Amino acid sequence: MVLYREKQALRQHIYSRKKAGQTIGFVPTMGALHSGHLSLIEQSRKDNSITICSIFVNPTQFNDPNDFLKYPITIETDIAQLAEAGCDILFLPSSVEIYGATPPLPGSEHYDLGYLETVLEGSHRPGHFQGVCMVVRRLLEITDPNRLYLGQKDYQQCMVLTRLVELMGRKDGLSIRICPTLREEDGLAMSSRNMRLNPESRKVAPTIFQTLDYIRQHLAPGDLQALKNAGIIRLEAAGFRVDYLEIADADSLQLVSGWDGSRKLVALVAAFTGEVRLIDNLLLNPGR
Ligand code: AMP
Repeated sequence: MVLYREKQALRQHIYSRKKAGQTIGFVPTMGALHSGHLSLIEQSRKDNSITICSIFVNPTQFNDPNDFLKYPITIETDIAQLAEAGCDILFLPSSVEIYGATPPLPGSEHYDLGYLETVLEGSHRPGHFQGVCMVVRRLLEITDPNRLYLGQKDYQQCMVLTRLVELMGRKDGLSIRICPTLREEDGLAMSSRNMRLNPESRKVAPTIFQTLDYIRQHLAPGDLQALKNAGIIRLEAAGFRVDYLEIADADSLQLVSGWDGSRKLVALVAAFTGEVRLIDNLLLNPGR
């Protein structure tokens, strides 16, 4: 695996490889890698000549400064895992390399994300998706991939980045592959933030997936409020502070209050255990 810290050198390398007819798969991450990240690398290796992973803890997407300061950094083991997984290139830029001397101030760049920015993560983490777009636009310009690999774990982010690719006018040359959420044996979605869970929180954390699965099993046509309330009660009983538990149209993310028995739905949760905020989601009727 080759490590690049500078965008110019990486750009030149990619340019020459693409000119030689090779395809590029790109997996953006914030490091503290786990098997979920590695599954994206694996998928990219199957589909492309060259797989690039980036590790960059993006300051502009943290609406909570404490979350940024406490974000886990495990760069040595990340490098070892990527090499072992057969990743071809690791891009490990500094903040200056991505943003210049200072990162853009909130509002200094605007991406028109419409409705997506008004619900769920959009409303609970103001500015978060603008920050995600700021960094991913730059990373896509540097890596110029044929395919971009994202995890369904961040369901709304997948939709936001699909929109970003449209806004960048890249819809034709760049396809997005959404890969399934990898989970621990007890159902907990793998996440870098799981490293911050104390033993007590780690014990209750699978309640999030259990609650989503409960909703999936009890989904029935009609009003959905009682089902959502039952989910919130389960989470609160396990000690979670719930940011949201919602059921939405799986394609548009429009929140739904009732089900007609056919619409494709996704349930999404964000909840705190202690000071760690976890998110997860589950397609409720994936076969439809
Ligand atoms: P992050 O480092 O958390 O920004 O995640 C980098 C990429 O890995 C994003 O596309 C995530 O959606 C994806 N990812 C994170 N956790 C998982 C998981 N448990 N399974 C699959 N993909 C994941």
